[in-house]
Amino acid sequence: MIDRNEILSVLSRYDLKKISIATLCSHSSLQIFHGAKREGFRTVGICLADRVKYYQAFPEAFPDELVVIDNYKDILDDRVQEQLIGLNSIIIAHGSFVEYVGSKNILDLFYVPMYGNRLVLEWEGDREKQFKWFEKAGLNFPRIFRSPDEIDTYAFVKVYGARGGRGYFKVSSREDFYKKLDEKIKAGLIGENEKLVIQEFVAGVRYYPHYFYSQIYSRGLKLSKGGLELLSIDKRIEPIDEVYRGYPDIIPDYLDYTVTGNQPVVVRESFLPQILDMGVKLVESSIELFPPGLIGPFCIETVYNPRKGFMVFEVSARIVAGTNLYPEGSPYTPYLFREPMSTGKRIAMDIRVALEKGIISSLIY
Ligand code: AMP
Repeated sequence: MIDRNEILSVLSRYDLKKISIATLCSHSSLQIFHGAKREGFRTVGICLADRVKYYQAFPEAFPDELVVIDNYKDILDDRVQEQLIGLNSIIIAHGSFVEYVGSKNILDLFYVPMYGNRLVLEWEGDREKQFKWFEKAGLNFPRIFRSPDEIDTYAFVKVYGARGGRGYFKVSSREDFYKKLDEKIKAGLIGENEKLVIQEFVAGVRYYPHYFYSQIYSRGLKLSKGGLELLSIDKRIEPIDEVYRGYPDIIPDYLDYTVTGNQPVVVRESFLPQILDMGVKLVESSIELFPPGLIGPFCIETVYNPRKGFMVFEVSARIVAGTNLYPEGSPYTPYLFREPMSTGKRIAMDIRVALEKGIISSLIY
């Protein structure tokens, strides 16, 4: 793993008056570029050659500089890394960046300074570690079945990495598990020896609150250091949501949890304390588990069950695509900021404030 001091030594050679905000053109990059431009930063897009024209189709969010690549693995090439460093780039990692480059590769081979704490990649990408984190945080999360033999109620089966729900399935028993697993393997949705997680299936309504934690700017809920802001909330759109459209039959294509889009939501105002408390617990435990802990945006993926309350089934320790709903702010941001505020812009603002205070290294690994 690259030591943080090595990254800080790259940063020490940067011209801090000419910082660029850089990311891979995918996932939430339009929002990140748009927000960074509004905060006065130069922007750098790492873009697949055949995608450039589609990004040009959004001129207000098109990056000022492009680093063109032929495939995602090129991001690790010396040529690309040197170009990014030459442009004084601070990388904003989003879901596709982590998925395509790979968290291990980022930790071991990527020398460009990144916004936030890289160590979080290990805790986010490994489901066992996530559960440890939830336990330490004291969050409610679905029961884990260590083996298919333990399944004694409806269970939900997921593959290990972030797949956006692709290939996930619900089972009712051990036998049902093996039958459906076999079908998924035959359909090429799950690999033969893929690591799986079996969780209790939680029935209820899904909410995905988007938080922002900053130690250098205390807005939002005051913590021992800094503040926790609830920037927005979304709900994901998955084919299963529309299963009723095939009624009275259940058409198998609807039995699919692939995330295809996002919808804006607000919660009952009386739920806000619980939502903020979940964020606080995750932040405080992260500081103990992998100091300095979470920095900037993160999302807790929850199901609200009428008997059990909010159950957490996953955390994304970075900007999530659900924030793309709110480039000009959400129903919550006017209560935090007088100006329009997206998560992308909030990241750029954190970087700008840190540069002004001369403490940018505290946000970088
Ligand atoms: P994930 O990749 O963990 O974010 O899950 C993708 C989708 O699977 C979610 O948006 C939910 O619709 C569904 N899901 C995940 N975990 C559970 C669970 N324990 N119970 C019910 N549905 C779940």
